[in-house]
Amino acid sequence: MGLFDGTLLERPVLCDRCGSDLKVCKCGPPDVPAESQRLRVALEKRKNGKLATVVSGFNCQPSQIASLLVELKNRCGAGGTCDATSLEIQGDHVQKLRLRLSELKYKLVGK
Ligand SMILES: [Zn+2]
Repeated sequence: MGLFDGTLLERPVLCDRCGSDLKVCKCGPPDVPAESQRLRVALEKRKNGKLATVVSGFNCQPSQIASLLVELKNRCGAGGTCDATSLEIQGDHVQKLRLRLSELKYKLVGK
């Protein structure tokens, strides 16, 4: 995918987030709205006996999960990690995460 192959557009198409020409925009694929994602929040016990709160079911860009992870880690004061479809915060933060994810308009499944 080169920048200069294919047809040249007569009018530049502008990114609706940064406002720059899409040919130079670095925003990447658009974020998937929170309300179109259905997440499950579960408490899991690890082999070492420690608890982890796992949020799964994301269908957005990994970068979107990664930035959410940063916010949730700060909010819980705990470490965490994420992959392409889920994130995990160390410790039991189920209530806190459900509350925050609801505020952010994510749809939650399960109790
Ligand atoms: Zn942009």
